[in-house]
Amino acid sequence: MRLLLVEDDDRIAGPLTEGLNRYGFAVDRVGTGGSALSAPEADLVLLDLGLPDVDGIDVCRALRARSSVPIIMITARSEETDRVVGLEVGADDYLSKPFGVRELVARIRAVTRRTHPERHTPPSALPPAPGDSLPHTVQAQPGQERRVQRLGPLTISRRTRGVTLGGQELTLTPKEFDLLAQLADDPGAVWSRQQILDAVWDPHYFGPTRTLDVHVSALRRKLGDPSWIATVRGIGFRLTVPDDGAYG
Ligand code: CA
Repeated sequence: MRLLLVEDDDRIAGPLTEGLNRYGFAVDRVGTGGSALSAPEADLVLLDLGLPDVDGIDVCRALRARSSVPIIMITARSEETDRVVGLEVGADDYLSKPFGVRELVARIRAVTRRTHPERHTPPSALPPAPGDSLPHTVQAQPGQERRVQRLGPLTISRRTRGVTLGGQELTLTPKEFDLLAQLADDPGAVWSRQQILDAVWDPHYFGPTRTLDVHVSALRRKLGDPSWIATVRGIGFRLTVPDDGAYG
């Protein structure tokens, strides 16, 4: 999927492009409204409203007048009126700065699902390893998947941020919960270290990645079996349900 990023600020456009590339999006970046209007048509447009030459609202209106390309506006917090006007002139969604790459990717997927259902791709970044299977996984019923997720003896409630293992409640720190919830978003899928840092810490987290290892270790300890979180050498981690029968 090819995105057109219309953003004049290099400090935002640079890291954003890198982050989106990591999620598999190709990004063409332009810094003015004029170049946005003369750029080849993309699959989706990320449009900053504060541009140096033309008002982003006018860019949005012009784009919409000639195509049905999905448009997500990127606004500063103070531009509440702009958001309303932007949606009126045909933007599909808006996002307020500051935002994380993960949040933006979620919006891109949601907008794509709405406008081009056939283009929607599942969230797993990398395919599960060959021979990988999750015999204990119980699929949630539609509409309940964000309620309580069951993975063998483990239950995760994103609504209450509660986790139980074999019926016993686990006490996790907020980051440990976020880490577990992130891995459990796509059980068996490999998440790269950077994807996890983007999602659980901060999209611009440039601190020591040792932080991630510390949290993985703590989570493994609390889950009582290190094989819950498998290390994928040189890439990252994935969640697997241990099949040692310890939980019957
Ligand atoms: Ca701007």
